Amino acid sequence: CSSAGEPPAARLAGAPADSPRSHASHKGSYGDVAVIGGASGMAGAALLAGSAALHAGAGRVFVGLLDASAAPVDLAQPELMLRDARSLDLSGMTAVCGCGGGTDIRAVLPRVLATAAALVLDADALNAIAVDGALQAQLASRARRGRPTVITPHPLEAARLLDCAAADIQADRLAAARKLASRYGVVAVLKGSGTVIAEGGGTPPVLNLTGNAKLATAGTGDVLAGMIGAALAAQRPPFEAAREAVWRHGRMADAWPAGAPPLTAGALARQAPC
Ligand code: AMP
Ligand code: MG
Repeated sequence: CSSAGEPPAARLAGAPADSPRSHASHKGSYGDVAVIGGASGMAGAALLAGSAALHAGAGRVFVGLLDASAAPVDLAQPELMLRDARSLDLSGMTAVCGCGGGTDIRAVLPRVLATAAALVLDADALNAIAVDGALQAQLASRARRGRPTVITPHPLEAARLLDCAAADIQADRLAAARKLASRYGVVAVLKGSGTVIAEGGGTPPVLNLTGNAKLATAGTGDVLAGMIGAALAAQRPPFEAAREAVWRHGRMADAWPAGAPPLTAGALARQAPC
């Protein structure tokens, strides 16, 4: 897992510019996001990612659940369109895949990798790809076809993808993020304190300094994946989509008021800025 060659210089992530909505825009201008995940008992992760995508400005958000017995609507978030993950048509959509998918995600990954216009891969989707050469070949094929993919591993997921230990990832996070990006032909977001965003080629990675340990709570990674999905659906270039969403996600935690109740992923999703 250790890196060879020059240690990469990192840039620091700056605050993204505001992007006001054009007066003449409509929901189609901001794109469709489809979250794929939510195996039995884990629908919450997919719903959190969907909520974050919605609040971050996506035009329409579908949530494709793997749990066939899931309720047909989330009454707390009726804007989310709940579907069966196995039959949701992803053509033209940005997919956010993995959130709470468990091992069931494997069955839908070939179709997601083949048909999603743009893609965020997180959590169980990454764990499935790490051990499956056929899925890795499909991921490489997306890069050849110019279809954007962003991966969002935490250190343990990154270690599985690079076949090493999480301690190796943490020992040189800049190199690990670069290696993930070049090996899989993706934009890699290596999460944790000091999230690193990297892409293949000679571009230096970006180190993000917003965020704090208030984010160390269940579901915040799903929220980030949804926010990146919304930015991709709005046609932001993948590296910028990832960098800006990571900065804003951390900034929300930094702005969490002292003395307020603990930050939760649901509250974070509802505050997700465009
Ligand atoms: P996950 O590990 O998938 O649940 O995602 C957790 C999210 O919270 C990621 O975006 C991490 O970068 C962020 N996070 C967790 N702990 C910290 C921390 N101590 N400082 C900054 N960000 C953190
Ligand atoms: Mg996670």
